[in-house]
Amino acid sequence: SPIVTITDMSISFTSPDEADIEAVRQVDLTLTPGKTLALVGESGCGKSVTARAVLRLLDRNADIRTGKILFDGAGGAVDIARLKPDSEAMRAIRGAQISMIFQEPMSSLSPVHTIGDQIDEIIILHERLNPKQARQRTIEVLDQVGVPGAKDRANAYPFELSGGLRQRAMIAMALACTPRLLIADEPTTALDVTTQAQILDLLRQLQDDYGMAMLFITHDLGVVAEIADEIAVMYLGDVVEQGDVHDVFRQPRHPYTQALMNSVPRLSRKADRVRLSPIKGNVPSPRDRPQGCAFTSRCPYAFEPCAGIAPARTVLGPDHIARCHLLEQVQTKELA
Ligand code: SF4
Ligand code: MG
Repeated sequence: SPIVTITDMSISFTSPDEADIEAVRQVDLTLTPGKTLALVGESGCGKSVTARAVLRLLDRNADIRTGKILFDGAGGAVDIARLKPDSEAMRAIRGAQISMIFQEPMSSLSPVHTIGDQIDEIIILHERLNPKQARQRTIEVLDQVGVPGAKDRANAYPFELSGGLRQRAMIAMALACTPRLLIADEPTTALDVTTQAQILDLLRQLQDDYGMAMLFITHDLGVVAEIADEIAVMYLGDVVEQGDVHDVFRQPRHPYTQALMNSVPRLSRKADRVRLSPIKGNVPSPRDRPQGCAFTSRCPYAFEPCAGIAPARTVLGPDHIARCHLLEQVQTKELA
């Protein structure tokens, strides 16, 4: 059964001039043990906001307006969307049951404490271990994420480690309490190709060992091909297409997904550093969200209803959905 089930989640920001800006619109996502869901899209599409909502790490001016984030806790389902960000219940989940790794390890590592002390602290906070037992666990987990000489390296400060080792130390910290869901926000974007491949291998290995679910945020379709079971493509706060990664890669159905795929030269080449090359035109500002389909201004297939009417969710297969008026027509025709 799923670890986290997000249904109908909408998130808005209030701007300094009191305008209401929709960042995430009615998103449905399911995170299952042993599976990786990749959340893909250009920057500002709402993927990081979605991820941070799950940990209740949103900025103060952001607000979950609708929907549920059901977490399958030890004592039954908990709706994370209803918890206070700094509540006891949320702190018990954050960092222990659900943890997160980032592009920049220094956003979770403190520069003034040793790696070992920082990992010990998390373990002591969440598990009933004394400092000596905690350090034992810290060394185990550093060793497991491939930090050589873990016992000595635990005494190093983050600045004394290479970029790749810092990334591993951050992963060790995230995994120290064996979370059931790991959220990874562009964790390999800043790394060189070789280190990137090693970190992806490591995450896959750890997922096999721990059976955790992963929510993997990236704008790199090469990384998606390497690591994901499922993909959700976001555009201006909407999930425009979602499905099994093989289905979506073989036959992307939404014009935006197709454009993303077309912008990647050779998807299958392993460890190739492929980024989404820009699609013609700009993403509209969320402040001036078009009434209809948000992709209208860039879509080569835009037709009469697109600008005025938002497309509905069309079911394309057992685990494949998209939102586009073209597909609604296809579905109608197929059914007729
Ligand atoms: Fe393009 Fe219209 Fe489909 Fe939007 S709804 S992706 S504008 S065809
Ligand atoms: Mg981001």
